[in-house]
Amino acid sequence: MNEKDTNGSGSGNGPEDKYEKICYLCRRPESKAGPMITMPGGMCLCRDCLQNGVNSIASGDMRWPGGLEGLNFMNLGEEKVPQKQQIKKKEQTPAPDWHQVPPPHKIKAQLDQYVIGQEKAKKVISVAVYNHYKRISDAAAADEDVRIEKSNILLIGPTGSGKTYLVRTLARLLDVPLAIADATSLTEAGYIGDDIESVVSKLLLAADNDVERAQRGIIFIDEIDKIAKKKETTTRDVSGESVQQELLKLLEGSQVEVPVGTGQKNALTPMATVNTDNILFICGGAFPDLEGIIKERLSRKSSMGFQSQLRDAFDEDPDLLSRVTTEDLRAFGMIPEFLGRMPVVVAFQKLTEAMLVDILQKPKNAIVKQYVKLLAMDEVKLVFEEGALQWIAREAAARETGARALRAIMEEFMLDIMYEVPKDPGIGTVVITRNYLEKKGGPRIEMRG
Ligand code: ADP
Repeated sequence: MNEKDTNGSGSGNGPEDKYEKICYLCRRPESKAGPMITMPGGMCLCRDCLQNGVNSIASGDMRWPGGLEGLNFMNLGEEKVPQKQQIKKKEQTPAPDWHQVPPPHKIKAQLDQYVIGQEKAKKVISVAVYNHYKRISDAAAADEDVRIEKSNILLIGPTGSGKTYLVRTLARLLDVPLAIADATSLTEAGYIGDDIESVVSKLLLAADNDVERAQRGIIFIDEIDKIAKKKETTTRDVSGESVQQELLKLLEGSQVEVPVGTGQKNALTPMATVNTDNILFICGGAFPDLEGIIKERLSRKSSMGFQSQLRDAFDEDPDLLSRVTTEDLRAFGMIPEFLGRMPVVVAFQKLTEAMLVDILQKPKNAIVKQYVKLLAMDEVKLVFEEGALQWIAREAAARETGARALRAIMEEFMLDIMYEVPKDPGIGTVVITRNYLEKKGGPRIEMRG
């Protein structure tokens, strides 16, 4: 067997050349263990492990049931290892250059094209992200006297206000891998559910198994408020406080052994070591009742002074969440060590009807723009009356799920339009009126010519 056949990696410049194979037995990558032999099914073995196996059989220590007859060594090299079970070779990814990261005002300007409102959040996040990539640059590492601390971010705000959307947009703009995990599915290692390390495994997958790229990625953990310390519990809190405790290790930076290509660990899954030191962690949650805790604190404080204010006075404040302190978050049930590793806390505002109207039509990929484009392909002009957009926004606001409700409402009444309009080639323009949405009439149709 020649070298090319046995190592199965080929000598071309195909995409698989960028990835290292990992020995299924000793789990060493190709760069450490040398060329691999590829078994049917895509399993790789290094020479040492293969030799050990052969020696064991030859010495009689290990017996093959029914002898070795029928064992086929001929096509071992033809099998390709699935790419999802290989890790990328180290030298492929150049060291990061923070100069390539746009300055905060440019990051924010790009976010503005997609995310409506949330001005403070966009500003804070743009600065935090910019600093993060400065921190992990070679230039910062060279200066050992001043160590820049990690700026993990905690996003607080009502559901559907754009927390996940902002993080997704950010990762896309910066071209860094992103993993999104739900804190509710995480449990302490050893219990039913995903353990904390599965989020790193997801990130590795998002980075195409390129360990270096994953190490500079973003992990977003949603619904973080669901792992608050349970107030009264007699059993072990395996999905609350313990998860916060385990999360600390990742937040402060540690070496994590994660399975490659799958979230599941088992004996046959190759493992890779990922250092979480330079991964940016962003956590988000709705934190219900946090406003109550903030109000409580503020009114306690003011009642001690001369101008005692009633608790109700804060009810009017739409921006109450932005006055959150770590003290409030502790009262909510987040442990101090966790909060200590989340130095940037940003509050998202509840979306107003005016913001919902903007979300319908202004972002680059706004829902209205998508429908206009679809009908333009049938050479039909689609117009929304201002009153119609306001009606949709009001309906969405009433559902209390933020901007999430917009698409559902839109789809409810656009279905008939999308079905009927292509039937009649004479139709030139369709105007969605408020009357139509209120079911008091049809849309206004204008014929061609
Ligand atoms: P959450 O705050 O619960 O994470 P999401 O970010 O998932 O909410 O928002 C749901 C959807 O609503 C997004 O995919 C996006 O299309 C839309 N959306 C929410 N907030 C905004 C916003 N501020 N600007 C533009 N679109 C938004």
